[in-house]
Amino acid sequence: EPLAVRVRVAQVGFGDHVVLQIEDITEAHRVQKVRRDFVANVSHELKTPVGALQLLAEAVLDATDDPEAVARFAARMTREASRLGTLIQEIIDLSRLQGADPLPEPKPVYVDQVVSEVLDRTRMGAESQDIVVVSGGESGLVVRGNEAQLVTAVTNLVDNAINYSPDHTRVAIGTRQRDGLVEISVSDQGIGIGETDLDRIFERFYRADPARSRATGGTGLGLAIVKHIATNHGGSVDVWSVEGSGSTFTLRLPSAARSAADDPAVADGS
Ligand code: ADP
Repeated sequence: EPLAVRVRVAQVGFGDHVVLQIEDITEAHRVQKVRRDFVANVSHELKTPVGALQLLAEAVLDATDDPEAVARFAARMTREASRLGTLIQEIIDLSRLQGADPLPEPKPVYVDQVVSEVLDRTRMGAESQDIVVVSGGESGLVVRGNEAQLVTAVTNLVDNAINYSPDHTRVAIGTRQRDGLVEISVSDQGIGIGETDLDRIFERFYRADPARSRATGGTGLGLAIVKHIATNHGGSVDVWSVEGSGSTFTLRLPSAARSAADDPAVADGS
């Protein structure tokens, strides 16, 4: 990316001397560009379902003497409206996560609690595809942050694992602690992600397969949200995938000290 600078004449009048002040504004420019692109993308993404709703509403008006057609159009309107609702909610979530106070009042968060909440939330979607979501690994892990955000992040990963997998497969949530980091991984036996897409899937609105993503109700914002949540918690998220056989997404978060009562080694004085 080219360097952007602002040049100002800071002082004149000392004989033949002029003092120029040169300021590096590359980062400010980059932030501005990201914001501009986001607004352009949002406008485009919102227009699609609104346009579809408009056409479907007109179709309903034209088909009033054909109740079957009306029912069909109405069902599609419901789907489009629901997609629009998800999109708006995700745009709001993302702007909150990027806002002035992205991690309000951090508290201890129990990873087991997060996993069980995620299992509850994703059960219906998994069952509709006959996918079993299992969890395993270390229990009793604690991180510091915001439970609702972490539930959202892991739910997004599990929803994707389900959406991009064939029926009758398995999704696994694993937890462990390693080098002071708590790792929460979500593995699937799905379609996987090609090498050229791997670097880009965390970008806002990026979809490896837009047609499939749209069919599953996807917005292209889920992983951008996960990444923001990981960063806000001082952690990271990465992906490992083999096209055609499955993907594993791993969220790594700084471990929070367990209380003495939770730790048998400390509790019995050894
Ligand atoms: P979307 O709403 O489209 O699912 P995301 O930001 O959650 O948006 O994901 C971006 C893209 O990454 C998806 O459109 C899909 O192409 C790809 N992707 C995400 N998770 C998986 C997965 N578990 N398996 C295969 N592809 C995935």
